[in-house]
Amino acid sequence: MSRILIIEDEEAIADLEKDYLELSGFEVQIENRGDQGLQTAMNREFDLIILDLMLPGMDGFEVCRRIREAKNVPILMVSAKKDDIDKIRGLGLGADDYMTKPFSPSELVARVKAHMARYQRLVGAGQKTNDIIEIRGLKIDKTARRVYIDGVEKNFTTKEFDLLTFLAENPNHVFSKEELFRKIWNMESVGDIATVTVHIKKIREKVEFDTSKPQYIETIWGVGYRFKI
Ligand code: CA
Repeated sequence: MSRILIIEDEEAIADLEKDYLELSGFEVQIENRGDQGLQTAMNREFDLIILDLMLPGMDGFEVCRRIREAKNVPILMVSAKKDDIDKIRGLGLGADDYMTKPFSPSELVARVKAHMARYQRLVGAGQKTNDIIEIRGLKIDKTARRVYIDGVEKNFTTKEFDLLTFLAENPNHVFSKEELFRKIWNMESVGDIATVTVHIKKIREKVEFDTSKPQYIETIWGVGYRFKI
């Protein structure tokens, strides 16, 4: 369950926010002081923090700044004064959103959900591992579009990369030059199948130890090429 911390000294507002958020399926904790709110934010993991500006103990500006130094959690700042919102923006404290009181609870819930979804997408993207093909000393990082031979990166043009990756993804399958040209260069492209030959030559110069005895891309005379595994 997603957890939200509300740092708010006006109990009626804090309770109202809590009720609506709990109805939407969130687990909510309330802190009524800035300093205590900061401590809780640092010591426990939350998926989002709703932070009031005027607070006893430590104001919302300082709380926001300190949380942001340590954590990426989304922070939604709230204030009764429009001027304060402008000030928060100007200070660049790293708050993700701002709301002026009074706001409707449904608007709060909608914003909370939007920020949480965005944050989880970011976190999810960060944890996703790269899509990698490894065959003997050749490593193709499809996500980063990089190629390594025995750990050393080789520079590939877009089409060289696409051609090598396509062949490596379909090992032991013989493709004619026409098929490869259609597949990598598309039908609209101007050019001819000699382009394929040129690119294969360039790829071999980068990946093969001895281009006269290729260990990755093999020429099948009169037919085309195949990636050997
Ligand atoms: Ca307040």
